[in-house]
Formats: sequence, C-alpha cells, structure tokens
Amino acid sequence: MTANEAREKILALRAEVEEHSRRYYDEDAPTISDFEYDKLIHTLKDLEDEFPQFKDASSPTQKVGGKVSSQFSPVKHQVPLESLNDVFSHEELLAFGERVEKALEESHTYDVEPKIDGLSIALEYENGIFVRGATRGDGQTGEDVTENLKTIRSLPQRLINAPERLIVRGEVYMSKETFDFLNKEREIKGESLLANPRNAAAGSLRQLDSKVTASRRLDLIVYNIQYSTREYSKHSDTLDALQSFGFDVVPYKVFDNINDCISHIEWIGENRDSFPYEMDGAVIKVNELSLREILGSTSKAPRWAVAYKYPPEKKPSKVVDIVVQVGRTGVLTPKAVVEPVRLAGTTVTNATLHNQDFIDKLDVRIGDTVIVQKAGEIIPEVVEVDFKLRPEGAKPFRLPSYCPECGSPVIRDEDGAAMRCTGAECPAQKLRNICHFASKEAMDIEGLGPAVVEALVNAQLINSPADLYYLEPQSVASLDRMGKKSAENLIDAINKSKNAGLAKLICAFGIRQVGAKAAKVLARYFRTLDNLVNATVFELLMVPDIGQITAENIVEYFDNPQSLHQIELLKAAGVSFESNEEVVDQRFAGITFVLTGTLPNFTRDEAAAIIEKFGGKVSGSVSKKTGYVLAGEAAGSKLTKAESLGIPIIDEEQFLIMTE
Ligand code: NAD
Repeated sequence: MTANEAREKILALRAEVEEHSRRYYDEDAPTISDFEYDKLIHTLKDLEDEFPQFKDASSPTQKVGGKVSSQFSPVKHQVPLESLNDVFSHEELLAFGERVEKALEESHTYDVEPKIDGLSIALEYENGIFVRGATRGDGQTGEDVTENLKTIRSLPQRLINAPERLIVRGEVYMSKETFDFLNKEREIKGESLLANPRNAAAGSLRQLDSKVTASRRLDLIVYNIQYSTREYSKHSDTLDALQSFGFDVVPYKVFDNINDCISHIEWIGENRDSFPYEMDGAVIKVNELSLREILGSTSKAPRWAVAYKYPPEKKPSKVVDIVVQVGRTGVLTPKAVVEPVRLAGTTVTNATLHNQDFIDKLDVRIGDTVIVQKAGEIIPEVVEVDFKLRPEGAKPFRLPSYCPECGSPVIRDEDGAAMRCTGAECPAQKLRNICHFASKEAMDIEGLGPAVVEALVNAQLINSPADLYYLEPQSVASLDRMGKKSAENLIDAINKSKNAGLAKLICAFGIRQVGAKAAKVLARYFRTLDNLVNATVFELLMVPDIGQITAENIVEYFDNPQSLHQIELLKAAGVSFESNEEVVDQRFAGITFVLTGTLPNFTRDEAAAIIEKFGGKVSGSVSKKTGYVLAGEAAGSKLTKAESLGIPIIDEEQFLIMTE
C-alpha cells in the first residue's frame, strides 16, 4: 500500500468508526456488532502504526469514545475514566505479558476479571454517603446522572465504614433476567423490543425522567477505586474493601503468570452463560498499584491492563427443518432447526432466520450445511451457507401466506420486511390483542393492564377480547392477588366500556393502520359498525384520509370469519355499535377542490376552511383527480388546464349554493 492509499484508507476508516461511535454512544442504537466495531478500530490502529506520519490525536484510536449530552449537567472527572486496549488472541495476551515484564523489574501479579458489558460510571461518596454519579462521557467530562442512579437498588447510598472521600468506578448493567422480562412485557404490549442488555442499560440510565430509569431495574457492579483518602497497595485489596463497604464487586482471581491468566480467561469464556450479566470479554490488570504508576497510560488507555474480547462463536451445523413461529405481535419468524451444536456454553438447536428477505439473501434451504453464530447476543443466527454441500433437490423456502397458528391471511408490513397474521382470534396473539382492546385509546378498560390480562388468559378465563364481556365476578375473584372488590371493579369497568362508542371499538379491533385517529374518521363517516363491515374498498376510499392500503386492510379484516365471530359475541354482550360522535356533514368527502383567481367575498383560506369542514380537500394543482375548480377573477393557467381536462369549473355563487 502506498502512503497516499494508506492516508485515504485511514481517513475513510476514521469517518466510519466515528459514525458508529455516534450511533452507539449518543443514540444507544448501534448498527453493527461490537465485534465488528472492535475489528474496525484494530484495522485503523494497525494502519496508523504502519504509517505513523498519519497519526493524529483526534483519531478514535487515541481518545475515549462518547460525548456529553447537553441534556445533563457536565461533571469533570477528578480522575479520568480511561478505556482499555483490546486484544483478540492468546498471542496478543502473551505479548502484553512480555511488555509488562520488560518494563517492570519487580515481581508482580495479575488480576483477571470478567468484562461486564454495560455503561461505565463514576460514583462519588462523601463520608460514606452517595453524593454524585456521572457517565464516562469522553473520559475527562461525563454526564451527571445522580438522580437516575439513585433508582438502582444495588447501588448503596450509604457505605459501611468507608473512607472520608471515595470515587468508585463500576458498570451499570441490565441483568439477562431483567432484559428477558422487560422484553416479554414489551412484546405483550406490542412495543419495540430492546436490542441487547448493554444498549438497554445505557438508554435507561440516560433518561430525563428517573421514573423511566427505575422501571428498567438496572444493576451496578464495581471494579475500581478511582480515588480514596484511605491507601491500598493492591488492586485485589481495593476490591475486597469495596465489598466490605457494601458494593457488588466484580469476581476476580489473582495469578502470578500470564499463562494461568489465559486459562482463567478461557474458563470465564466457556462459562459466561452462567453469569447474570452479559460480558464481552475479560480484563487482565497488573495487581500492584505502585507498579501501575510505573507503567502509566496512553492518551486513551492504561498500559497496565488489557481487555481480551471473546470472538462470537461460530460453528457448522445442518438445517434439518425450517419452522415458522408466530410471535405475540403476529409477526411470523422463520427459524432453522439445526442439528445440535454447542455454542458459547449452550446447546443450540435452532437459529433465527429473521424474515423472508434474510432467507432470500442467504438462500438458506432445508438440508443445507450452515454456519451458526452466537455473537454475545441472546439468539443464535445463521450467518452463512456452504453451497458446496447443498443436497440435490433442496428447494428455496417461502414463508406461508396463511398463519400456521390460525389459518388467517398473512400480510407484509408496509414499513418493513415482517409478515404479520391478521387473525382476530389467533391464539399466538391473544395477549397482545386483548391488551390492545383494553388500552386507553381503545375500549379504555380501567384496571385491565398486561399483568391482569395474562392472569386471565393463563387461568383460561378468556381467549379473545370479546370473552371479557362474559367474565363472571366469582371466577375473576379467584385469581391470585385479585379479591372480591377488585374483581367487581374490573367487571364494572368492562361493563362501562360497552358504551365506549364506535370510534373506540373500531380502534380496539387493532386493524393494521387503523389507529385512534382513523377510527374516529371511520366512525363519523359510517355511523354504525354494520355500515363499516359492509363497506367496499371503493366506498372506504371516499372517506377522507383513508388510502388504498388501509381500505384493503379494513375489508380484509371484516372478511375474516374470526373477526365476524368476535363481532357477533360483542353484539350479543350488548357492546354499542353506534357512533356517539357528533354528526358532521361530510358532503365533500373524497372531493378535491382547486382554487384559482380572486373570489369576491372570500379569501382562499376562508374558502379552503369551508371545503375542509365538509370533508373535502384542497389541492394546489389541477389533475384528472380534481373534483371542481373554484375560479375567481383573473384566474390563470389552472383554469385553462381544467378546461382542457374537462374538470367542472364553478364560481363563488355556485360554491355557496353547494354549501347551503
Ligand atoms: P471497552 O468497552 O472495550 O473497554 C473499556 C470499558 O470496559 C470501560 O469503560 C469499562 O466500562 C468496561 N469494563 C467492564 N468491566 C470492566 C472491568 N472488570 N474492568 C475494567 N473495565 C471494565 O472500550 P470502550 O472504549 O469503552 O468502548 C468500546 C466498546 O463499545 C467496545 O465494546 C465496542 O465494541 C463498543 N462500541 C460499539 C460500537 C458499535 O457500533 N457496535 C460503537 C462504538 C463502541
């Protein structure tokens, strides 16, 4: 590579790394895996080492990633929060050991700890009382997140027998258990899922509302004393001290040679599934604090420590079958059933194929030999197909057009690659359908949140939204933590919702693209549910704001026998199918007007307001779709165009007659 080529490559890599850093640190929403990111940094560092003339203090290899958001007050760290240099192989670990040996004359030991994948934090204590906590930020200045930190139960607010002043460094993380729990809850509510525990923790801590942080049940584990008015000679002693003050401390082991460190790192890697938190590596640190001073630091990271990053484990296996699962939001997810293979400490028997686009891109077929990967993330995935080993006759795989759970038609999301079942009674979606039905914007049934819905479903008291209206108070009262009074209140709230009105009922059906706003428009237009059920796509297109896709979704929904069955049950239960919206005159619904020239008595805005009041639309240009051109004095080219297209042209007088 010539120097010029190297310079260009370095600049391109820096830009790429910086963009990924921004997404990761500022938005908590990375788009590549950490392993891929670390590799990019490594490539950049190697190039900068090879061509030192292009080294630059502003390179991401020379500074700690992350910025300080203006949403929080800045905190200048008394002791900088450094990063760690990464290594990916045993050779690099041995090289680290050699560098340390060379620099130190005295004998020394190493400390090995898991590297917890969370958010780095500095905590200040005065006389044992927690006074302030800040994120790492750019290493020199962080963000004041004290109030949010106070919501973390494992953060001791008062220490036992602590030094007068103490600054502790640790990691705020979301345990795997909490992560699974929250995602399960979000899935039921139909909310987007948290991508991984690290980003979930970072996003949760950097919230303006502490209540949100509290609801995310974060945890804290500490691994360093940054500053203390009490002196220690070894890192391991500081960890023991931190434990005695009342902190959860990172598990550690001390070794006197690098080979034993490597064996322990391997052990941690093999057992990482059994730790309650995600980890992305292990850290080796020189244990004697006085020797750390001799070794010193670069601008970004200490020379006395190194982080070994575990590679995502990949192994070959064979696709025995491809099965399709229907999630609680109705999304069909294809999964490859693979021959059992051991990955990152667990036996993997299936791997996600995400969606049809993913299957098409990899061209995965039943019988294929594939590479399965577990990249620290929870769900293993298929990453590659070995086409040479493809058996004869293997056919491309297509997702079914009908839901494998309930047989309803499947539609593709307009905004993505997901395929979704449309069944109103689909067993896979019942929790979410019922929760949505009861939600505030739908039937607004007080006291019927996800936990109660789940309890009712688990007790087999309900299977679909309409079943709510057939609940008996005694059976509801028999649920755990319910009681007679709460059961009666719940039944009252359910009965009250019978008169929620047509708009809320339409919204409660959860038809794709029909939210509260569209439901209101539909209720106002059709007045009764029967009218809506019988509407054709053509008639629906007459309704203001209802487009082709929404109209088709509505017709498809009411064509489905499951929907009609729900409607029958709702009707028999006495749920009101009438609109209680004020009657509005929609005489111009579906008609587009174009205004041109000066009207004698109205400004254009006034005329437009009248048209919109009657449900019409105003457009700036004439086309075949224009209903009328309302022309005043000195009308220009729009009039000519309307004439040439044969569009009816009216004057103000005719317009007034139409609006009488
Ligand atoms: P790092 O995360 O690799 O190492 C330093 C951090 O390790 C410290 O800040 C500390 O918080 C943490 N840590 C956890 N346990 C520790 C322990 N026992 N002892 C000491 N430190 C411990 O490096 P970095 O510079 O903080 O950040 C880079 C990380 O962010 C990498 O994991 C990288 O993959 C990820 N990242 C990913 C993207 C992406 O797009 N995927 C972008 C930017 C950064």
